[in-house]
Amino acid sequence: MNTIRVRFAPSPTGALHIGGVRTALYNYLLAKKFHGTFILRIEDTDQNRFVPGAEEYIVESLLWCGLKPDEGPGFGGEYGPYRQSERREIYQTHIEELIRNGHAYYAFDTTEELDALREKESAAGNHNFKYDAGIRMKMRNSLRLSQGEVERLLAEGAPYTVRLKVPENQVVTVHDLIRGEVHFQTQELDDKVLLKADGLPTYHLANIVDDHLMRITHVIRGEEWLPSTGHHVLLYQAFGWEDTMPAFAHLPLILKPDGKGKLSKRDGARLGIPVFPISWAGDTPEDSFVGFREFGFDPGAVLNFLALLGWNPGTEQELFSIDELVEAFSIEKIGKGGSRFDFDKAKWFNHQYILAMPNAELARLLRPLVQAKGLDPSEKFLAAYCGLLKDRVHFLPELWEVGHYLLEPEVEMNPDAVSKKWNPDLAPALKNVTEWLSQQTSFDAEALEAGVKELINEQGIKPGALLTVLRIALAGDLKGPGVFEMMELLGKDATVQRLARALHHFNNSAS
Ligand code: GLU
Repeated sequence: MNTIRVRFAPSPTGALHIGGVRTALYNYLLAKKFHGTFILRIEDTDQNRFVPGAEEYIVESLLWCGLKPDEGPGFGGEYGPYRQSERREIYQTHIEELIRNGHAYYAFDTTEELDALREKESAAGNHNFKYDAGIRMKMRNSLRLSQGEVERLLAEGAPYTVRLKVPENQVVTVHDLIRGEVHFQTQELDDKVLLKADGLPTYHLANIVDDHLMRITHVIRGEEWLPSTGHHVLLYQAFGWEDTMPAFAHLPLILKPDGKGKLSKRDGARLGIPVFPISWAGDTPEDSFVGFREFGFDPGAVLNFLALLGWNPGTEQELFSIDELVEAFSIEKIGKGGSRFDFDKAKWFNHQYILAMPNAELARLLRPLVQAKGLDPSEKFLAAYCGLLKDRVHFLPELWEVGHYLLEPEVEMNPDAVSKKWNPDLAPALKNVTEWLSQQTSFDAEALEAGVKELINEQGIKPGALLTVLRIALAGDLKGPGVFEMMELLGKDATVQRLARALHHFNNSAS
């Protein structure tokens, strides 16, 4: 088999939707699985829709996710330029070839003329006006006008487009790797514009010429492009490139969390969830979005989540590293039906990633946040802290929120908890426990638990009551990890200090 060459070909028209990242991911996985090449191509021929900063956003998103292109603008490669706006001459030569071969023609009809015709047809009951084989011989184009007339119009600089001459009464068959055979009747297809009046190609022409010249072997893209594929196959035929035509795979939609319709960028704001990889600052608040990155996601978890939105490994396995995804991936296991965007599932993946991450690594990631609070715990302490709290969080910043009182030098006690749970009768027991703890030489949770519980029994008080008070003394409230785990983490001096301070505070607040 030829080496696999795939491309991710976004148009820089704004922030890259998370569905686009999934498309990039599937392309990347296929390329890596077969030691092929993953290409980034920027399809920027529609000047009206060009948005400054969008290309940079796309590149930053891909790099954050770890989907680094092997070829692309700024990434090198022998098939560039990889920005379509820099390939004008290439399209020009190819369009001339199609005109010469009789597969395309000049159309001089102005927008006003076409609008008027569309209106006329609509008034006569035809609401689906198409510039096609049925009407092309009634229009102002190089098929109908004499050669002299065409030359005169061209020499005069009359504006024109170039259209594909769709052959009549044929069936075009696309072999889609996900959907099987898809047929198009050419009567249904219009004579698509290939070159616009501004001299730039349309998506259809540029896409096919580039896929051919860049030796693309597989086109993996969203299913919204399936209806265009009939035209694309006709273009391959018109150029005589059928033999090297890429294989097509059209990916199913990503659906809204309730399964009703396609996930849109507005769903993010509506539901307070990210639907973009990284944040995008648009001109207005409505056009600005928070990304998965800023939400606190690990890129590995995002890829894992996205991989399973449409692809099924065929086993029960849900957690995959990127290498495991590469190994397991196959286009055949991509489903036809849409997949629901389940944000809770995305959070679950991130939680699993946090659980699986070494404590030292979590500590490294958390440290800037802790330092921003003016604290600088030792590496060992912060790693142990992360280990103790990681099963309580979905996102890294939450590691601070759920346990900051263990990092701060002093704990602030919740007065409600104190007044509800403190009973002066517990004072002697609390004092004894504090004293016993101050005499211990080793400070591991299990041994502490056994020792303290024995002590409580000897005092003849309810263990629950004292344990709650110990919790308030250490955590300031009724929440937090196990009391003895907290003691082990804090170590003897800090534990004893917190208990002594708490006793003082309880006594004062009771009086
Ligand atoms: N430029 C198209 C897009 O924005 C590319 C579609 C394709 O992959 O052919 O999605």
